[in-house]
Amino acid sequence: MNTLQNLIGGVWQDARGAGFHDVVNPATEEAVARCPSGSPEDVRLAVDAAAAAQPAWAALPVADRVARLTRWADTVAAHAGELAEAECREMGKPVALGTAFIGGAAQAFKVAVAEALDYPFEETIAGPDGGSTTIVRNPLGVTAVIVPWNFPVPMTLGALGPLLAAGNTVVLKPSERSPLSAARLLELMDLPPGVVNLVLGDSRAGAPLAADERIGLVHFTGSVEAGRKVGAQSGGLLHRSILELGGKDPVIVDAGVDPAATAAAVAFGAFANTGQICTSMERIYVHQDVAEPFVAALVEAAGAYPAGDVLGPLVDRRQRDVVVRHVTDAVERGATVRAGGVVPEGPGFYYPATVLTGVDESMLVMTEETFGPVAPVAVVSSFEEGLERAGASRYGLAATVYTTDPAHAAAARRIPAGVVWVNQWQGGGPERLYEPAGDSGMGATGARAAYDAATRPTSIHLAPLA
Ligand code: NAD
Repeated sequence: MNTLQNLIGGVWQDARGAGFHDVVNPATEEAVARCPSGSPEDVRLAVDAAAAAQPAWAALPVADRVARLTRWADTVAAHAGELAEAECREMGKPVALGTAFIGGAAQAFKVAVAEALDYPFEETIAGPDGGSTTIVRNPLGVTAVIVPWNFPVPMTLGALGPLLAAGNTVVLKPSERSPLSAARLLELMDLPPGVVNLVLGDSRAGAPLAADERIGLVHFTGSVEAGRKVGAQSGGLLHRSILELGGKDPVIVDAGVDPAATAAAVAFGAFANTGQICTSMERIYVHQDVAEPFVAALVEAAGAYPAGDVLGPLVDRRQRDVVVRHVTDAVERGATVRAGGVVPEGPGFYYPATVLTGVDESMLVMTEETFGPVAPVAVVSSFEEGLERAGASRYGLAATVYTTDPAHAAAARRIPAGVVWVNQWQGGGPERLYEPAGDSGMGATGARAAYDAATRPTSIHLAPLA
């Protein structure tokens, strides 16, 4: 079986640490590769290489950096299918879905790096006394990107673009569960040695990386639990961190909507990627006037997500156990299973598209991130009740509202979340600017904010020369 290597200073090399683990295909439960589990020595070497490469990378004209990064994105787009196959082997995402997301992420990467061409890395403002202030926004130096397994390639590209275009170098640590696509992504890269380095492993690599005092910023995407640790470490070092963490996203289905069309949209929001999206719809509040036809249509829509090419397996047994625990807890507290809810026979960590009714906030499935294909539906007597219950969560990643009432569409902004979608889900282009609320993280990102995070401003005040 293939043993994966780190990429340090442009050289693929064996990890120094002694620990290894198997990467397991969740559809077959078979090991597909052997992955280093990480060590402080591997991290130290990668940070050394990133630090050595950074001055020359930052000294390149912005347009050159953007051109090289754009070429990489084009190569990634041309290999989207192959990368999606790697994602499928390591974490179970259906290849068609993975290919579409990787193609979209390559395009978004190009837009994000092109933003550097307009970003004011240096601007001079004239002062009233004949002097001036010049603001220089310098890169932070070496940065760390730590990503989860649920969208391995898109999450990595999303974090890397502005950091690299701004002149930083990166040590990338993918999830220990999805190293295959990360390695292939970097094989496709043609950037100077050391600009992006790959350190494989779990928290044995992630923790020393976040704790390295040479790291200017940690861009962390993952669970609330690990994000808190990374944030505490960065804070202790007085370093910056962007934390994009878990969610328990609500959706409000208002009276007056088309029940069948809305149910189809909600089914996609709850079941796509087997519910393993940070912004999956995990709590559904439906107005009593439309509840019955909506639930009937949602149950029918769940039937359009058969296990296999449409609904992949969960990433591993541990994740499926979480889903089973949440559904079992809900049923024990009085919920009704309207579709799915039973672990299938046979190999693979599959779980069916599941619809629950009769749920409330005493249940784990309505309060903790499930990260599985479960749509729990609560009936509300008014849109206002839906808004209140949607907002009453420790998470605040995103929220969705389906309504035909303009006043209700306007009121959607009262939900504390980084993103609020109205009558759509996952929309928004490169202008999208957001910061998660509550336990879902911190640090504004998207659009120009990503460049503000990737640089540190210095103001040079020049008095009129005598
Ligand atoms: P995780 O927190 O277990 O792991 C995420 C990454 O952090 C992995 O690379 C892991 O090895 C690393 N890590 C773990 N402990 C660490 C530590 N102490 N120090 C440094 N690094 C550490 O999360 P996961 O299971 O891989 O991913 C699923 C979670 O990610 C879900 O909660 C999901 O909502 C969240 N997520 C959030 C977003 C977002 O944009 N907000 C996007 C995708 C996923």
